[in-house]
Amino acid sequence: MHFNILTVFPEMFPGTLGAGVVGRALADGIWSYDVINIRDFAINDYGSVDDTQFGGGSGMVMRPDVLGAAIDSIKNPGQIIYFSPRGPRFNQKMVREFTRAPENRVFTLLCGRYEGIDQRVIDEYNIMELSIGDYILSGGEIAAQVFIDSTVRVLDNVLGGGAESTTNESFEIGGLEWPLYTRPSAWRGRDVPEVLLSGHHGNIERWRKQQSDEITRQRRPDLIKENKK
Ligand code: SAH
Repeated sequence: MHFNILTVFPEMFPGTLGAGVVGRALADGIWSYDVINIRDFAINDYGSVDDTQFGGGSGMVMRPDVLGAAIDSIKNPGQIIYFSPRGPRFNQKMVREFTRAPENRVFTLLCGRYEGIDQRVIDEYNIMELSIGDYILSGGEIAAQVFIDSTVRVLDNVLGGGAESTTNESFEIGGLEWPLYTRPSAWRGRDVPEVLLSGHHGNIERWRKQQSDEITRQRRPDLIKENKK
């Protein structure tokens, strides 16, 4: 997979994506990225990429002429995504859809700043908007890193432990994950549930399923409704 990242803060990349399993996958060439500095397409020597809003109101808006030139500089933009609180909320199901045929997937990720971007850019390039949650960030860079991290980690050969380590997780199993335990088996008077030490795979699986169902019912009943659809 390849990501073209449009930002006014190129120094933010690879950022968190340079560490851990995703960082290793970057070094291994499983994914790659180019950062395009939007300021290189500024309208003047001061590096202006934004302007005041038509119709009044506080806050600046990123200019369409600047963003258009930045997008047009990309040879193969692939699918263009603008991170925005107005988009559909990103989830694991979308991660799976975005990573179908990863060898052919190229994304251009547009990181907004200020109040956001001129609507005409979204219309002109038929850009998909995507939100990472119901809160306002000061820029789209963190959202872009969320997008890249979550998509790259499900690609083959990124996580150790094979396909199971990505399919056995919250959301993938139709709910939330069961509680996890490791050594030591006794800690501060708290014991690991007996069944997990039993070596009885059938019972362990049943216990995990029951725990997962219970936690999902308590914390995220919306996920259960979603599965029934
Ligand atoms: N005025 C906008 C918010 C602008 S926040 C509004 O009311 O909808 C500045 C930039 O941060 C946005 O252009 C967007 O790229 C990014 N951003 C903020 N919150 C986000 C979220 N929840 N998901 C994805 N991107 C977000």
